[in-house]
Amino acid sequence: MNYSDSARIRAVLTNCGFLYSETEEEADIIIFDTCSIKQKAEDKITGRLKEIPKDKRIWITGCMVQHNFRLSPLTKGGGEAGGSKPLSAFKRGNFIGSIKTVNPKVIGKTNEEIKELKSKKNADFSSSIFINHAYNPLFFELNKTYPHLELFFRIDDTGFLPLMLQTLGYENIKINTELFNEYEKIIPNEGASMNTHNKTAYIPISTGCNQFCAYCIVPFARGLERHFPAEQIINEAKQHLKNWVKEISLLGQIVNKHPDFVHILKEILKLEGLEWLRYTSPYPTYYSEELLQLHETEEKLCPHIHIPFQSGSTSVLKKMFRGYTAEQCYQFIDKIRALKREISITTDMIIWFPDETEEEFEKSLQLVEYGKFDMVYMGIYSNRPGTFADKKYTDNIPYEVKHQRRTKMNELLKNISTENNQKELWTKIKMMINKIDKDGNLYGYTTNMKQVNVPLRLHSPWLEEDEWKPEGANFQPWDIIPIIITEAQKFKLIGETIYYFSIWNLSSKK
Ligand code: SF4
Repeated sequence: MNYSDSARIRAVLTNCGFLYSETEEEADIIIFDTCSIKQKAEDKITGRLKEIPKDKRIWITGCMVQHNFRLSPLTKGGGEAGGSKPLSAFKRGNFIGSIKTVNPKVIGKTNEEIKELKSKKNADFSSSIFINHAYNPLFFELNKTYPHLELFFRIDDTGFLPLMLQTLGYENIKINTELFNEYEKIIPNEGASMNTHNKTAYIPISTGCNQFCAYCIVPFARGLERHFPAEQIINEAKQHLKNWVKEISLLGQIVNKHPDFVHILKEILKLEGLEWLRYTSPYPTYYSEELLQLHETEEKLCPHIHIPFQSGSTSVLKKMFRGYTAEQCYQFIDKIRALKREISITTDMIIWFPDETEEEFEKSLQLVEYGKFDMVYMGIYSNRPGTFADKKYTDNIPYEVKHQRRTKMNELLKNISTENNQKELWTKIKMMINKIDKDGNLYGYTTNMKQVNVPLRLHSPWLEEDEWKPEGANFQPWDIIPIIITEAQKFKLIGETIYYFSIWNLSSKK
C-alpha cells in the first residue's frame, strides 16, 4: 500500500513541477510515508528523523499522521494534551465522504490559527484541509526537535498537496482541481507506477476497513471502507501495462470485499501485456466459489493466496473480532487444496495475543501444520492506542513464553517450507528477476511467490572458455523467465535457466 501511496504522491508533485530524486543526498525534501501497524514502525521513523540533515525539509504522511488525528487540538476536549473524539463537523474525508468544494481552506499551519478557530463557537470545518498543528500533539513534539519538519498531511489528502504547498509559501505551484480529495483518480506517472526493483504496479481498489478487529489501527488510521469504481481501476491497469508493467497487484484491506472484485480480475486478465496478476489481502469469508475457480482456470492469476488467518483458535479469533472460526479456516484450506492447480498458501499469525493460553497457541500450530503454509508472517502483538484491545486487553504473556512460542512456530515453519520446496524440485516455473548482482547471479521470486536464486554459471559446454559469460549478462532485472528448480532449501529455491539447463542436459547425455 505504501508503494502505491508513494507513487501517487510522486505523480501529484511532478505535476506541480517538482523533480523526483533517486538519492536522498540530492533531494531537498524527504517525504516519509509511514506505517502504524506496530509501534516499532513508528519508532523507526522517529529514529530516521535524526539522520536527516537540517538543510533538508521533512514531510510526513501515512498512517502515523492519520491515527494521531483523534488527538488533534481541534477534536473534542483537544488541546496540547489532545482530545478523544472528532467533532462532528470535523468528521470528513474517508470517515464520512469527501470534500467537494473547489476552494477548501488549509488549516493548521500555525498554532495561532488553531487557537483562533477553537475560540469560535460552531466553527465550520466542512471545507477545510488539515495539516501540521491540526494534528497535535505529534507535529508539535517532533517540530520542537526537528524545526525542518515542514509538513504533516493525510495520505487521503494527497490531491490537495498543491494547495497545502501554496499555503506554506511555495510559488508557481500548478493546481489540478480534478484531483481534489479524489485519491483514487491519481494515476502514477510512467516510472513511478512500480516499485524500485521490479515491474510491478500496485493498484489500490479500496481503502479503509469496517471490520474493526480488536487489535487493529487501520480503521482509525485509514478510516472506513471505500471501494473505488471498477472502471477506474481497470483504466489504471491499462495505463500501467502501456508503461511496460508486467505484474499487477490489486490492494485493499479486505481486497475481495470489493463488490466487483471478480469482474475487475476478469477484465484485467484480458489486458494485453499482463503477465502476472495478484491481490492482497483477501479475507476467508469473502471468497466466492467463482473467485476460487479463477485460480484454477486463469494461468495469469498467480497460484498463490496470502490469507491472513491470524490464529487457529476459535476463542482467540472471537476475541480478535475476526468474524470466523477455526473450522472455517480449515474448510477454506480444503477448498483451495481441492482445486486442480497447486496453490501456495501463506498467512499472517498474531503471536502471543493477550491472554492466549498454551492450548490456544497449539491450535495455531495445528492450523499451520494442516495448511502446509509456505510462509507465516508472524505479527508480534503490538498494542495500538485507541483500539478495543488497547482499552480492554493487557499484553500479559511473559517474555520467556513469547520467545518459546516464536521459536516453536519458526521450527515448524522451517520444516514445512523445506518439505514443500522439495516438491518443487525439477519442476519448470517462471521467475521474475528483481536483482542481478555484480557477478551475474539472479535473484527474484516465482509465480507462486517463493524466493529463488539462479547462481552464476560461467561454464558452457559448447562455448570456448573466453566466450563464457555470467548468467546475468543474458537478462535484465524484471524479466520473467522460465527456470528449472534444481535445489530446495528452507524458504528458498535454487534454479537454473532453461537455456543452460538444456545445454547441460545435452552435454551430459553426450
Ligand atoms: S480486517 Fe481487521 S486486521 Fe485487516 S485491516 Fe481490517 S480491521 Fe485491520
